[in-house]
Amino acid sequence: MKDFPALYGSKVFSEAIMKKMLPSPTYIRLREAILEGKTLDLDVANVVANAMKGWAIDHGATHFTHWFQPMTGITAEKHESFISVIGDGTVITEFSGKELIKGDTDASSFPSGGIRATFEARGYTAWDPSSYAFIKEGTLCIPTAFASYTGEALDKKTPLLRSMQALDLQARRILRLFGDTQTKRVTPSVGAEQEYFLVDKELYEKRKDLLYCGRTLFGAKPPKGQEMEAHYYGALKSRVTAFMRDLDEALWEIGIPAKTEHNETAPAQHELAPIYREANVATDHNQLIMEFMKKIAAKHGMACLLHEKPFRGINGSGKHNNFSLETDSGTNLLDPGATPSENVMFLLCLVAIIKAVDDYQGLLRMTVSNAGNDHRLGAHEAPPAIISIFLGDEITKILFAIEAGEEYVDSYERIMELGAKILPNLPKETTDRNRTSPFAFTGNKFEFRMVGSSMSISGPNIALNTALAESFCQFADILEASEDFNRDLIHIISKEIREHKRIIFNGDNYSDEWKAEAARRGLKNMRSTPEALPEYLSEKTSHLFTKHKVLSETEQRARYDIKMQEYVQTLEIEAATMAEMINKDILPAVSRYKGDLAYTINNMQENELKGSIEYEASVLSEISELSSKLYNASSELKKLLEEINSLESIEEKAGFTRDKAFFKMEEARQFADSLELLIPRSYWPMPTYGDLFYSV
Ligand code: ADP
Ligand code: MG
Repeated sequence: MKDFPALYGSKVFSEAIMKKMLPSPTYIRLREAILEGKTLDLDVANVVANAMKGWAIDHGATHFTHWFQPMTGITAEKHESFISVIGDGTVITEFSGKELIKGDTDASSFPSGGIRATFEARGYTAWDPSSYAFIKEGTLCIPTAFASYTGEALDKKTPLLRSMQALDLQARRILRLFGDTQTKRVTPSVGAEQEYFLVDKELYEKRKDLLYCGRTLFGAKPPKGQEMEAHYYGALKSRVTAFMRDLDEALWEIGIPAKTEHNETAPAQHELAPIYREANVATDHNQLIMEFMKKIAAKHGMACLLHEKPFRGINGSGKHNNFSLETDSGTNLLDPGATPSENVMFLLCLVAIIKAVDDYQGLLRMTVSNAGNDHRLGAHEAPPAIISIFLGDEITKILFAIEAGEEYVDSYERIMELGAKILPNLPKETTDRNRTSPFAFTGNKFEFRMVGSSMSISGPNIALNTALAESFCQFADILEASEDFNRDLIHIISKEIREHKRIIFNGDNYSDEWKAEAARRGLKNMRSTPEALPEYLSEKTSHLFTKHKVLSETEQRARYDIKMQEYVQTLEIEAATMAEMINKDILPAVSRYKGDLAYTINNMQENELKGSIEYEASVLSEISELSSKLYNASSELKKLLEEINSLESIEEKAGFTRDKAFFKMEEARQFADSLELLIPRSYWPMPTYGDLFYSV
């Protein structure tokens, strides 16, 4: 392995590099802009741009790009050369402050959800100086926000930055109330653990479903699946080890420290955990991690699958969004403190999160919905589609004591005592873990485990930040006006626990009893994307986002439309791919085998071996019956696809694809999978599950 300290961050225009390369007044003003979330003045930007250009060229870059995250959830780049040819043919390098802080982009090829009419196709990108520029494949990448000329956000970064600002504002109001006059900024920290599958690239390319949809639409259960769970933490295959080493090095260079990489429970599944960063940087990093995983896997002759559910009967892939709140002096507000008053502050933050998650359970659920995650949430391997919070027995006991204490615990001192007695000794070990919980407290952070593996983590974090800002805002409104701070503080804590304890659940989230119990508690259970997406347009969500200036109503509507379209399109592509595979691959292969069987039977009959054709005849009849059914199902599927087009509204289309097309696909799959088990290996037209799982 290469020299880690030299490698780490070597392609990042980092804090340290800026400090070294920039004149001190410029550096100070840049730091201020970052800390206060302000835009950079042009004179400062010019100096920064010049230093950045020099550094980038020294590190082999020839181009620069404003790197941004349109609403599709992937990233986009438009490369421009540093080099310009002037009048007399001389070549000079150019990169101005203006080019650093703002770029013009033809926005028409990115979805806008109707915000930007095509005649005003221009959009612009603006540098997010809190996320460092880095060099990727010879190009200086400048992390930017992307907006329309009328100022509406067209991307996933802008509202995330806005939500961080809202959270910072409200959290600092709380800190001031506890006498903290020093903290300049409170930032959500996020570490997103990423699950993924690796399969052999040659086999991957032989399956149209993987190529077009990222998941298998067919596949009978192999004799050896997940039963043994021998894969978990198993010895890594050498090809995977080589891939991981390359991936680590590529990520380290651009300043993304990958921490642990072990095999997950499913065959061919792995996980990567980066070290946590500010939410916007963590989001950038996660996008880069996904991009590098795919590219580097290809170099090693493998395909990296980031779909939420690539294989039936095998655990899907999620993303665990670890979340905490940190001050600029490095205090984690979700860490129970060493003193009673820190503990009370911790309890208030905890209660703020409990309230936020309960009040906005629908919104949170919505942010993790897509066609892929519909296969995962609610299946017995991932959290159910119901949001609940795991706190562990210790904290739950404390909270319930405070709540019950209303009659007899009426003094601040009593709460302090309670906090002092128990909180500093909280167990943080894995023994107190609940792997079935969608939103689990893990000692000093929360882990939101419902996020799908292919998704940007921007959406869930926007929702968390804003909902939490709202809790803090409500608390601060009361406490700032309070005449008896301690009394009102305790009152808030006990009242909020009473009102929101229904969201706390420490048991087994996979059990059927929980579903019934959750329904009794009145918790939302939205099983599919079309059910969850309207949460975007609810009055509650709308009020939250407009109040905290995170998303305007137009921006909310646009995001809703894009997500709905995406859902319908995904299912349409899947249905069309399925029909094509049935008609062009599966049925012709079945037909070939049927012909051979019939020929054999015929031959035997001619040779008067009638008594011994029992096996062939029975397989032939079984196959014939299944293939007719499969043929009919695919014809019906094609008709359903045409019907979708005739529907007017996107809501009708979404409901129809889910209730009709999806159901028909399930039916077709059953026939095809039964056929796979009857057809000899040599006839089956694509690699099987067994081939894929054990191919690397
Ligand atoms: P655990 O043992 O709880 O799983 P790890 O230390 O293994 O915790 O970290 C799991 C993930 O959580 C990593 O991506 C890590 O960076 C992230 N993480 C750790 N601490 C925090 C924190 N305070 N805030 C946000 N994310 C964190
Ligand atoms: Mg985890």
